[in-house]
Amino acid sequence: SGRFFIGGNWKCNGTIDMVTQLVKDLNAGSVPSTVEIVVSPTFVHLDMVKRTLRAPFQVAAQDCWVSKGGAFTGEVSAEMLHDFGIPWVILGHSERRSLCREDDELVGMKCEYALSQGLKVIACIGETLEQRESGHMWDVIDAQLQAIANHTTIGNWTNMVIAYEPVWAIGTGVVATPEQAQEVHAHVRAWVAKNVNPEVADTLRILYGGSVNDQNCETLANLEDVDGFLVGGASLKGPSFIKICNSEH
Ligand code: 13P
Repeated sequence: SGRFFIGGNWKCNGTIDMVTQLVKDLNAGSVPSTVEIVVSPTFVHLDMVKRTLRAPFQVAAQDCWVSKGGAFTGEVSAEMLHDFGIPWVILGHSERRSLCREDDELVGMKCEYALSQGLKVIACIGETLEQRESGHMWDVIDAQLQAIANHTTIGNWTNMVIAYEPVWAIGTGVVATPEQAQEVHAHVRAWVAKNVNPEVADTLRILYGGSVNDQNCETLANLEDVDGFLVGGASLKGPSFIKICNSEH
């Protein structure tokens, strides 16, 4: 539901040359006007990409600080992103949850602050293989959603998309099956309908992420509760990413 959404998470990748070429490839690609497309370079590349990428491509930061800027060495604040005209920020990516120990509560607080500063948020959730296999998947996903919901007003849900990224599918080449993706996406929508609001659930964009490529995207794009993708590796290749942007039918 809602406008189909494709995110490209470039993670910690890119040289000036590579980013320049990727922007060129994206600008030369043909993408449907019905799709919302947001790419996310590193902080050092962000302004350069924002200035050179043409519409309809938008940009996102990959993270931001949890509150107002100040004496927080190494951090970038939401108000700085807003000041630079960066419309989106990815929050709670599993790599930040695991490698930088961001917990559910911190991710919820980051969502709240970023939204309060006028940014739109791509909020990421997802279970590890161990959590799935030990039967804790639904508890994990519900807790991640609850923390985000606790910090988000009803009105702000229109400024947020949820990305379901099972950790075992990220960068592994092991994409979720259509059944697995649809099952979790339907669960997320039902959870939001029950715990937030049914209208919010109807229009919420729920993205799938984890080993999406230009071969598997069409099948996944046609699933009832898949409203787009958050793409990692394949978003670094212009032609592949453009194909993924054209996957909705
Ligand atoms: P891959 O597409 O490389 O599996 O990464 C997915 C991801 O983490 C996007 O945020």
